[in-house]
Amino acid sequence: MASTPPLLYWLTYEKNAAAKAPPLPVPTNADTTEGEESDKETEMTVKHRTVTHRIESTVGQTPVNAYLIEGETEVVAIDSTLTVSGGRAVRERIAEIDKPLAALVVTHAHPDHYGGAVEAIAGSDAPIIATAGVDAVIRRDDPIKEEILRPMFGDEWPAQRAFPTWTVDDGTELSFDDIRLTVRDLGPAESPHDSVWFLGDDNRDVFSGDLAYNHMHCYLADGFWLNWLAHIDALSDDLPADVVLHPGHGEPAGRSLLAWQRTYIKKFTEAIRSADWTDPDHATQDVLDTITGYLDRDHLRFLMELSIEPLAATLADDPTTG
Ligand SMILES: [Zn+2]
Repeated sequence: MASTPPLLYWLTYEKNAAAKAPPLPVPTNADTTEGEESDKETEMTVKHRTVTHRIESTVGQTPVNAYLIEGETEVVAIDSTLTVSGGRAVRERIAEIDKPLAALVVTHAHPDHYGGAVEAIAGSDAPIIATAGVDAVIRRDDPIKEEILRPMFGDEWPAQRAFPTWTVDDGTELSFDDIRLTVRDLGPAESPHDSVWFLGDDNRDVFSGDLAYNHMHCYLADGFWLNWLAHIDALSDDLPADVVLHPGHGEPAGRSLLAWQRTYIKKFTEAIRSADWTDPDHATQDVLDTITGYLDRDHLRFLMELSIEPLAATLADDPTTG
């Protein structure tokens, strides 16, 4: 008997995640003296600051974010969620903003970040941009994601997926009018290939993909957690204290999110290593108890549960890792 897809509910919402005060007009006419009448309309320019919108799609209890960076004249999307509904919500929000989509950026190679792209860009000729490594893994792994996700999500998993149309190298800077983005290509981390994207030139807004979830359970089954930890440490060292991370799951947060993620990964791998796997059921329960003791929430719990067996197998093969 066919099982019912877990399309229990979905919702989307957006908000100004950056929560920054609007900029004050910047006077540019140095000749204007106090008390002197002047045509302020022509003698002042307004320094536009981009606004970041978060769109959270929750289909099958899988909350995942897309972001829209709204510049003065254009919009750039970061990721596109997993589903048809999520991708449409991105497209509808772009229509509400009423500025053309200049590009869609994909942060990493997991389907909950590129699946909705085909819907998000429908009717637009905007490129889908990713690093070459992210692009290659998406194309390599998409057939197996189809096998896994179709039974889970039914028609919410798009029948055809859109892949990147424009690949970039590490350090590439892109400008879309006043929206400037710089990519750091990471390689294996949470997924087989990750990247993070910096907005502007002060490193204060970072679209960090799944390098750190915001207090949701995490997917470690791809097995690159040592690389993941190294990237967390490197990024932590480089970011300013007032950085805003825009994560793939959960609300934007500060740099401490990276430390939280590091502890989650360490607790997870240590719990697997210390469990007695001669009794797999008991060992699995011990790991669950440790992880839920650190994060007592159900958000994305299934990702954590899916990760236990592959991680245990990895560590059994090579108990010296980590
Ligand atoms: Zn994700």
